[in-house]
Amino acid sequence: MVPLNERRSTTASERPLRLAIIGSGPAGFYTAHRLMKKVQNAVVDMYEQLPVPYGLVRFGVAPDHPEVKNCEDTFDMVAASERFNYIGNVKVGQHLRLTDMKPHYDAILFSYGASEDKKLGIPGENLPGVYSAREFVAWYNGLPEFRDLNPDLQFGDHAVIVGQGNVAMDVARILLTPVDDLRKTDISTHALETLSASKIKSVNVVGRRGPLQAAFTIKEARELMRIPDVAFAPIDKSLFPSDLRKLERPPRRIAELLLKGTQHTPEESAKSWALKFLLSPVSMYPHETANLVAGVTFAKQAFAAEADRYSKSARVVPTAETITMPTSLAFRSVGYKSTALPGLSDFGVPFDEKLGIIPNDPHGRVITASSGPGELGAGHVPGLYCAGWVKRGPTGVIASTMSDAFMSADVIASDWESDVPFLNSGRNGNESTGLGWDGVKDAVAQSGTKPVSWEDWKKIDAAERSRGKELGKEREKFTSVEDMLKVLDG
Ligand SMILES: Cc1cc2nc3c(=O)[nH]c(=O)nc-3n(C[C@H](O)[C@H](O)[C@H](O)COP(=O)(O)OP(=O)(O)OC[C@H]3O[C@@H](n4cnc5c(N)ncnc54)[C@H](O)[C@@H]3O)c2cc1C
Repeated sequence: MVPLNERRSTTASERPLRLAIIGSGPAGFYTAHRLMKKVQNAVVDMYEQLPVPYGLVRFGVAPDHPEVKNCEDTFDMVAASERFNYIGNVKVGQHLRLTDMKPHYDAILFSYGASEDKKLGIPGENLPGVYSAREFVAWYNGLPEFRDLNPDLQFGDHAVIVGQGNVAMDVARILLTPVDDLRKTDISTHALETLSASKIKSVNVVGRRGPLQAAFTIKEARELMRIPDVAFAPIDKSLFPSDLRKLERPPRRIAELLLKGTQHTPEESAKSWALKFLLSPVSMYPHETANLVAGVTFAKQAFAAEADRYSKSARVVPTAETITMPTSLAFRSVGYKSTALPGLSDFGVPFDEKLGIIPNDPHGRVITASSGPGELGAGHVPGLYCAGWVKRGPTGVIASTMSDAFMSADVIASDWESDVPFLNSGRNGNESTGLGWDGVKDAVAQSGTKPVSWEDWKKIDAAERSRGKELGKEREKFTSVEDMLKVLDG
């Protein structure tokens, strides 16, 4: 591996493609992986705002899904290349300006994910006791920003989750899983302590449409069905066709699972969960005496057309009827949201606030909005590319992020082979200095942050694993940047 401060030599005829990647999640790593394979002399500097890499693989994926984190092995392989530099603890837009990077790179890839969540936009959603699934997930996974979230799981015994995607199912599962089953995972100790004192006994996972339109997948539903002594509240059979054979295989299997439910009823079990359908939240109301949410009011929905109620795309319309669900704990889980990176507009790139993405053509070239959608290469801002959630919106799993990142890498490689202009005008014209990190490190030093190399991360990793070993778990994460950096002092 090349130390951060070592300069590489370049030749005029075969100079390397110098790429900066912003964000060290799956999108960034998979793009680096593919690009470094395709362009033999590509040199990649990967910037990450945190000292530690892997994005949502570390801070999003549920701790009881360790097999999902196997992709880290591939990322480690990428990082072992001497053509790859990891530069952690550097937040682009704060510690380093995009305009300061520009002269030293041929291309920049934006793969900085989605760091905010969508709001419901209803009265009461900011009441104490209402959390976003994003912050709750980040809290149990030890993200420094939310380590002090300290959700109150003791005031009452009900929880309501608005939204029915897999993140909502993760939240429900973590709330209902026996704490002893989580102890060996890399869940943060502060979360284990709070969860072990939790009084939550019943969780309602609420969706605006029906079961055949819900976004969760069968694996997540099955896992909830299998938690010992946790019952599933029987589901309304009228939401399914009387003959399930009318459904395609994937929705049919989900329907069978939900209709079968669990052996025990909620009355017979210590804890329970339910899927509630055709309900759209209109407000959250406060407790009479405590400063806390006391319940959620929903407007009942009806299918717009009776004929297509079993199709994935069925639409619903509000009815005049409302229902309330008393609860002292509520989560909104209606999606993540990307935001503009400071300095993007200096490149003539208007962030698409509506879609929450950087405007891009179907391959991942960043475009100016005026070029219109879908025109190959039209309005391409030279040298700028994107991948992952900031490219296509915050949906999709690691596998789809990988395919998407490969597509971005392929287009960078093919542009590099052709006469397409790059950040500093082109391969043979006005070239970048090719300095990469060496060209910007003084600017980063002035910001006061301390860059973290891959070797540094490996020391943090080893320290976390050894803390975990003492506790009989996979790893015990550091939950503050300060503690992560302390490991490097010795
Ligand atoms: C709660 C949750 C659970 C999930 N569980 C699964 C699962 O079980 N299986 C599965 O396949 N998929 C799962 N996913 C989906 C998967 O995590 C995403 O598809 C994938 O992480 C998206 O990759 P990305 O690289 O676009 O974004 P991210 O993984 O978010 O990576 C973005 C990175 O950019 C960094 N960054 C942000 N801003 C800056 C900046 N200014 N400068 C430098 N760095 C910056 C961030 O710190 C982060 O490390 C889950 C997602 C969530 C939210």
